[in-house]
Amino acid sequence: MSEFAIHDGVLHVEEIPLTELATRFGTPCYVYSRAAIVRQWEAFQAHMPAPHKVCYAVKANSNLAVLQVLAELGAGFDVVSGGEIARVLRAGGLAKNIVFSGVGKSDAEIRYALEQNIGQFNVESDAELDRIAAIAADLQCTARISFRVNPDVDAKTHPYIATGLEANKFGIPMQDALATYRRAARLPSVEIVGADCHIGSQLTETQPFLDALDRMLVLVDALAAEGISLKHLDMGGGLGVTYADETPPPIGHYLQAMHARLVDYPDLALYLEPGRAIVANAGVLLTRVEYLKANRSKHFVMVDAGMNDLLRPSLYQAHHDIVNVVASNAPEVTGDIVGPVCETGDFLGQNRTLRVAAGDLLAVKSAGAYGFAMSSNYNSRPRPPEVMVAGEQAYLIRARETLDDVWRGETLIPISDTQ
Ligand SMILES: *Cc1c(COP(=O)(O)O)cnc(C)c1O
Repeated sequence: MSEFAIHDGVLHVEEIPLTELATRFGTPCYVYSRAAIVRQWEAFQAHMPAPHKVCYAVKANSNLAVLQVLAELGAGFDVVSGGEIARVLRAGGLAKNIVFSGVGKSDAEIRYALEQNIGQFNVESDAELDRIAAIAADLQCTARISFRVNPDVDAKTHPYIATGLEANKFGIPMQDALATYRRAARLPSVEIVGADCHIGSQLTETQPFLDALDRMLVLVDALAAEGISLKHLDMGGGLGVTYADETPPPIGHYLQAMHARLVDYPDLALYLEPGRAIVANAGVLLTRVEYLKANRSKHFVMVDAGMNDLLRPSLYQAHHDIVNVVASNAPEVTGDIVGPVCETGDFLGQNRTLRVAAGDLLAVKSAGAYGFAMSSNYNSRPRPPEVMVAGEQAYLIRARETLDDVWRGETLIPISDTQ
């Protein structure tokens, strides 16, 4: 079922050998499969109880062409900045399908979102509510809002990507939620439309989602008892994917389990905000081996992609499978696959066993989510290109950066005459 499969000894993406893409676009290079993105999107659609809305979390991969593919499928979008709103609109997404999350929305971002008439704000604090209400009043419009409530459940994931615990910066504490909704209900420039939560990322069990859903439904009932009826409940994103040997629930199981809890709420639409589950396994990072190096205790495979291109392994010891694009007869080495960046933490994989020689092409798998999106120019490295494959066609959807791109906006200061 994978769009990344070996044919005639060469790893392909859909109909195209990755060797061909490496020759045409150089390395390092991100490659995405359109079909893989569409398949994941359709898996969510196939199992969603009506009424529903799936809002792709743009931060996972915000390339315009990726957003375009999803916009053409009628997707909603979960954004966390004004920049992401602009990207969605640029890619053909509809403002009414945008939900705006994030803990630190600025005045300018809120104003822009209201002017574009986005679907709703997922509000994360009382202070943010007041700010949105004031700006909406100033613009003489109504802001549709949902509160992000922190259900205080343990997502059992890496601490950097757990967001639903009381100790995290996200959302309004559950015990304060009722009071905040009451206050919002009295503000003329806001309209309450929903409630939302997002408990973390890369969850591999259904239970934390169900625990969160149960807690959110208690809130929905309490609000209804006070005459505040919600149109939808947004359960966020967070469904995990298989990077190595994780076994996240299939999309259908996760959705059916949630749906079963919602049968008594036929008028409450379920919103979801999947990011990783849509794009992670739709992308690879192509990289070429530069050198093999060994010291007395360890082997290193030095490749041309580094932590500036793919940060996840360095940032949270994330695992990505790394495979040969063409089967190799080179001797087997066991060691770390490292990049050229001047940091000890610059590795793509640790303790891997591969048959490799200098010049070989490798594919770092599952790199479609939080890959390019987290890339940087650290060490003045131009960021890699992004390529979207659809069947036999490959489209360059972001050109490799040049050095002019790297220092764009920088200027020299006048030559000093004070010596
Ligand atoms: C990051 C994020 C998501 C997407 O998370 P995934 O784990 O990629 O599905 C959804 N909603 C919010 C509010 C987020 O911050």
